[in-house]
Amino acid sequence: MTALAFTEPGNLDHTTEIIPQWEQVREHLRREFGEAIFKSWLKPLCINDVRGGTVRLAAPTRFMRDWVISHYAERIRICWSALNAAISTVEVIVKLTPPPLAPADLPLALSPVTPSQPLSEPSLMDEEIIGIDRDVLGAALDPRFTFDNFVVGKPNELAYAAALRVAESQTAHFNPLFLYGGVGLGKTHLMHAIAWHIKTFHPKRRVIYLSAEKFMYQFVRALRYKDTVSFKEQFRSVNVLMIDDVQFISGKETTQEEFFHTFNALVDQNHQIIISADKSPSDLEGMEDRLKSRLGWGLVADIHPTTYELRLGILHAKADTLNIGIPKDVMEFLARKIISNIRELEGALNRIIAHATLVGREITLETTHEVLRDLLKANDRRITIEDIQKRVAEYYGIKISDMQSARRSQNVVRPRQVAMYLAKALTSRSLPEIGRKFGGRDHTTVLHAVRKVEEIRTQDREFSEDLDILRRTLEV
Ligand code: ADP
Ligand code: MG
Repeated sequence: MTALAFTEPGNLDHTTEIIPQWEQVREHLRREFGEAIFKSWLKPLCINDVRGGTVRLAAPTRFMRDWVISHYAERIRICWSALNAAISTVEVIVKLTPPPLAPADLPLALSPVTPSQPLSEPSLMDEEIIGIDRDVLGAALDPRFTFDNFVVGKPNELAYAAALRVAESQTAHFNPLFLYGGVGLGKTHLMHAIAWHIKTFHPKRRVIYLSAEKFMYQFVRALRYKDTVSFKEQFRSVNVLMIDDVQFISGKETTQEEFFHTFNALVDQNHQIIISADKSPSDLEGMEDRLKSRLGWGLVADIHPTTYELRLGILHAKADTLNIGIPKDVMEFLARKIISNIRELEGALNRIIAHATLVGREITLETTHEVLRDLLKANDRRITIEDIQKRVAEYYGIKISDMQSARRSQNVVRPRQVAMYLAKALTSRSLPEIGRKFGGRDHTTVLHAVRKVEEIRTQDREFSEDLDILRRTLEV
């Protein structure tokens, strides 16, 4: 516990409120950033003092302070100001706190990094190693994220098949398996599913799953402890190494260097590596070229944005698991409207169920509208067919009016087909609706365009990359 120094004597309200507010802010951050990030970066922070509208938080190391300032301080300030308008600034300082003594739960297969220097008598030189959570090398697995609970559809079938193959195989397959796709589309779910599968069916195989951020954090910690040798050994002795959200190590050269060596060492021993990211290897910014190319050596599997059918399938699966009957029209409505990603779709379903349970009212289309008003609005503001037409026309250097025109020259037809394909993939519009927006074309024309684009993308790498770029620029 840190002693609080409030420099506004007499303003007791301020002091009594600030701690519960900090608790609320922490809870909020935990939900927003997830357990792993929270535990690594946010949990070790404590309140140092409050002066006027400025809260000063203390971080145990300089590295952590800098990281928190660049990544989370603004978020903390916004959350706090929302609770208490008097708080206008959040600062982070470095302050030593005693190191945690005992390692907590062990990682999946490895023992914790043992510091080469005693922790009990820190000198100032050691400042940066103090207080860093040094318990877990790998991260915990979510018990819900199994293959059984993963609904397979067109957008994720390749990623699913590859993940299952890797999980079932005793030797390395497609090394590395690189899974990429937008947020909330199931990358982490698939990685956990692989780990569960191996833990269940091949318990002797050593699996490590962790976020790239955590990998970086462990590595920096090992550097601080001057203990990179055991860091290397531990990572290099696993059979299956999974690193989630690898885009997080963009721009971090020393971490990339280490990652590259770990990567090569594992591949040389024919051990499996599985990576996820929000972009394809070649599109990862701030990554060394040799690392990018290495990441693309194995199988690169893209998880596409959801389709209506997949969304509906997922809703049915979730409702079945929860054993709750939900009217068909409500399910269809949700699948049509919540198109952003699966996390949001699940959130919507949970909200409806929670509401129904709490107020004891039946779930109907009407209550659904009511409960999800904000979410529906947000999803409505998403991509429109007009946005897609404009962006695709710009990309291929044709006129927007050609999206509707009857011109049939190849340089116009292909972009138009791409736009139709993206309209199908990224909006919840039906084929006839899409056809109408493209100069009143028939729904079969749209269907033909979608199939054609799907066919070409499997054969033409450049075309497939164009599609990915377009999709990504539309999705931001
Ligand atoms: P990502 O890591 O790609 O951001 P997650 O794996 O965290 O996404 O998935 C977000 C949520 O959606 C999780 O609760 C996950 O269980 C769920 N989810 C994603 N894809 C599927 C799927 N195909 N079937 C069932 N649930 C899914
Ligand atoms: Mg994830």
